[in-house]
Amino acid sequence: MSHTVYTNLIGGQWTPARTGKSFANVNPADSDDVLGDFPSSGAEDVNDAVAAAAEAWKTWRLVPAPKRAEILYRTGEILTQRKEQYAREMTREMGKVLSETRGDVQEAIDTAYYMAGEGRRLFGQTTPSELQSKFAMSVRMPVGVVGMIAPWNFPMAIPSWKLFPALVCGNTCVIKPAEDTPLSTYNLVQALMDAGLPPGVVNIVSGFGPDAGAPLVSHPGVRAISFTGSSEVGRIVGQTAAANFKPCSLEMGGKNAMIVLDDANLDLALDGAVWGAFGTTGQRCTATSRIILHEKIAAEFTKKLVARADALKVGNGLDESVQMGPQVNQQQIETSIRYCEIARKEGAKLLTGGDPLEDGSFDRGHFFAPTVFGDVSAKMRIGQEEVFGPVVSLITCRDFDEALEIANGIEYGLSTALYSRDVNKAFRAMRDLEAGITYVNAPTIGAEVHLPFGGVKKTGNGHREGGTGALDFYTTWKSVYVDYSDKLQRAQIDNA
Ligand code: ADP
Repeated sequence: MSHTVYTNLIGGQWTPARTGKSFANVNPADSDDVLGDFPSSGAEDVNDAVAAAAEAWKTWRLVPAPKRAEILYRTGEILTQRKEQYAREMTREMGKVLSETRGDVQEAIDTAYYMAGEGRRLFGQTTPSELQSKFAMSVRMPVGVVGMIAPWNFPMAIPSWKLFPALVCGNTCVIKPAEDTPLSTYNLVQALMDAGLPPGVVNIVSGFGPDAGAPLVSHPGVRAISFTGSSEVGRIVGQTAAANFKPCSLEMGGKNAMIVLDDANLDLALDGAVWGAFGTTGQRCTATSRIILHEKIAAEFTKKLVARADALKVGNGLDESVQMGPQVNQQQIETSIRYCEIARKEGAKLLTGGDPLEDGSFDRGHFFAPTVFGDVSAKMRIGQEEVFGPVVSLITCRDFDEALEIANGIEYGLSTALYSRDVNKAFRAMRDLEAGITYVNAPTIGAEVHLPFGGVKKTGNGHREGGTGALDFYTTWKSVYVDYSDKLQRAQIDNA
């Protein structure tokens, strides 16, 4: 069967990879469904794309920011018109259910409108000068060519978090989509082009991490790198960037805790736990992977959670009645299997799930049963390490202090949640949980685009996506002094 053949986007031209190699983009719910062949690019393709982006930067940086913003606004409108089509294609390429892929496209729309607004802000400061007849201000300047490496779990939202702020700030971009989800990046960039984005301002180089991602990170013409993915790869990316003094934003893993206290609304917490643990098949960096239960409610909560997990309808996400789709590929299934084995050996108690689903309607996809482990102690590997699958660990605590200690006792620090009706405890959680995000009476997932997104410890290196934090990464500050006194005035000397 012949498939649609996609090529790279370089300088506004659809260009086959110089490597001549390609890979198939296959539906993880149905191996018979191939979305297309995508280029498996190498360093030469990256060179071409960076050269095109550098050329385009010469003019793009001079386009007034409100005009750049208008293109983003139109992109938001085009994405709104195409939302259903792009959501369906995303479900086919990545697996998550339609309601979630609609949300993913919506997140790109929200980011488009938000960043379009920033085109008329991008504020700097005007300040007094310490000298007479002298004017002082700070302005945001674009960085130049930015390299972007995206993961597969939010195939359109995450590229939009990277591209839209970078573009409104006047940068040009080379993006390498995740090898599991290139089509959604193509769709996003197609919307940008249809909205009037000039050639070369965004370039796509599709391919695998070591072949196409690594040369992008080390390329001397790339002035900054934005990476979202695993902590293992993020460490390599960060070290390579640091060797060239290149700004690098890393957004990586999590082992996110939900604390449920004995005064919580248990039904609400249960809804949050099911959504947090099994939404996106547990493949979110903010997924709820640890639930820390007060001992007084632990038994009741556990029983109800297991019943809810058992009742989830797993299947192809294009079926509107399905609640949980497949994992993205066989490698992720292997990881879930491995962690279930580790958990059993450590003495955790498997309460439900624990295995891939392979029979009948599951035979052409990468499905895994919603899985709950009880009797997990905080220091077990299943309580410490990211699984990135539909596997949740239940840990019992005596009181709130111990819950905080368990929640903080990991290497990651992305998202956290507290379920309690006690306002004092809620404020303590906001203060004391070591994480970039804390939810009160809501699950660990559900970030909104105008707030900073990112984490502490092994989750990130201090930068934030979303919110105005994104503008800080995609611009550099320039201080400008204008002396209109017509004489030499020496700061710190002539006015001392
Ligand atoms: P995940 O577990 O989400 O697949 P990865 O960190 O493996 O996370 O991948 C995230 C992104 O990083 C993907 O686009 C992948 O191709 C890319 N990548 C993987 N290895 C490298 C590397 N050595 N250099 C640059 N990018 C890489």
